[in-house]
Amino acid sequence: MLTPVTDPDGAPFWEYAARGELRIQACADCGELRFPPRPCCPHCQSFASEWRAMSGRGRVWSYVVPHPPLLPDYAALAPYNVIVVELYEAPHIRLVGNLVSEVGAPLNSLDPHGIRIGARACFGYDETTGLPQWVLERP
Ligand code: ZN
Repeated sequence: MLTPVTDPDGAPFWEYAARGELRIQACADCGELRFPPRPCCPHCQSFASEWRAMSGRGRVWSYVVPHPPLLPDYAALAPYNVIVVELYEAPHIRLVGNLVSEVGAPLNSLDPHGIRIGARACFGYDETTGLPQWVLERP
């Protein structure tokens, strides 16, 4: 499995994720959220930033079912999904991940043909892989 490669701008995202918290970088001057993390605010050019806690809730904005050729570790798990989630608090912020049956479950734990655009999803963190995951929100 591929593991996250962090840089100084994005390191806090991974540190919060490892605690099960979804936090998004925000400008400390104008308040605009931005993702992926970067040093300068694209709205006001400020270099001051903070990490704002999100609810961890969003909707499936898009998804794909990757087809071969796949990396060997991933080929063994196909078919699986890769989703793009838009956050409730900030629909312009979209994160890529996998939708799984429960936090910690493998990539192929959900039938990708059952995924629907607009489905409600919640952020989770898989301690085994060190990666964020998404699970369907229970009604
Ligand atoms: Zn700003």
